[in-house]
Amino acid sequence: MSEELLGKSQKELREWMASLGEPAYRGAQVYHAIYAERRFAFSAMTNLPAALSERLEREAAITLPRIARKYHSADGSVRYLLPLDETPSPGGAAARVTTVETVFMPSEGRQTICISTQAGCAVDCKFCLTATLGLVRNLTAGEIVGQVLVALEDNRERLAPRTNVVLMGQGEPLLNYDATMAAVRILLDPNGMGLAARHVTLSTSGIIPGIERLAKEKVRPKLAISLNASNDAERDAIMPINRKYPIAALMDACRRYPLRPWERLTFEYVLLGGVNDSAEAARRVARLLAGMRAKVNLIPWNPGALPYRPPTAEAVEQFRRILAEKDVPVFVRYSRGQDIFAACGQLAVIETGIEARA
Ligand code: SF4
Repeated sequence: MSEELLGKSQKELREWMASLGEPAYRGAQVYHAIYAERRFAFSAMTNLPAALSERLEREAAITLPRIARKYHSADGSVRYLLPLDETPSPGGAAARVTTVETVFMPSEGRQTICISTQAGCAVDCKFCLTATLGLVRNLTAGEIVGQVLVALEDNRERLAPRTNVVLMGQGEPLLNYDATMAAVRILLDPNGMGLAARHVTLSTSGIIPGIERLAKEKVRPKLAISLNASNDAERDAIMPINRKYPIAALMDACRRYPLRPWERLTFEYVLLGGVNDSAEAARRVARLLAGMRAKVNLIPWNPGALPYRPPTAEAVEQFRRILAEKDVPVFVRYSRGQDIFAACGQLAVIETGIEARA
């Protein structure tokens, strides 16, 4: 069986190459070719001797995720549905086809690629269609970094100089910590994909042990917290994970988080009409974040299959104004690709035919 190389670190590739009886530095050359040069055929790795590339063709593989479906939005973004290998169900039942989503969003001078870290998700946020799938399985480091590579390859002709990556697709990245961080290290490695830490953002629903672990990493992305509520009662109702990691404990973890000089924490707040968009909620959010080096992204809810309604334009502006008046940096973000199912998980749900819960 051939060895899958996608997702391996430079160290792992060096060790693997040495285990073949080849010089370890050949592993570093393959690493550079895959991630920095985006060459996925051994024959295209011009720095390898012909005999070695022939051997690698026989004994190794670099398997990018396959694109099953592509959805083009009028705003230029492209949403990919990527089938992964089949995951056997417990008890020998029929295998489930595992799919994940990746979104490529071009804008002036850069592209932003939104990737998934798990197929499905166990966190059960009530405003999220991925939650209706449950957790299918964790992705491997190769499947995570492969989404970035596949999106870049598919848009090769129109790439801007800068690439941003957001870990905000399907799944809770901090519940697939090791594979996610292995992929992030490749993204941020100057000898790998060479992205800047300030251009890679990991978004969490607030898994405190994961935040604490991330705080100790030498190489780490920016951190975003999906807040979406201003007190425990509100947050318990839409994010049951809050019962395990309530707001006060989450805010403590955020205050302890060691920010780099250029860094702010980002708090994501999906505005659900009539649920969490009142003036009192905005004032409570401002109090929670008082004195913290943070910014808030307000994301007005997109109408869809779930039983929520978008906030009114007045409610969005009122929320924004209250935070701004309390000196909390605040931005209103509209989801890209609304015409191609923008909300997290919508594609996977449509493709697998699972009905959204009422
Ligand atoms: S919003 Fe994120 S963490 Fe919550 S259920 Fe959806 S994918 Fe999971």
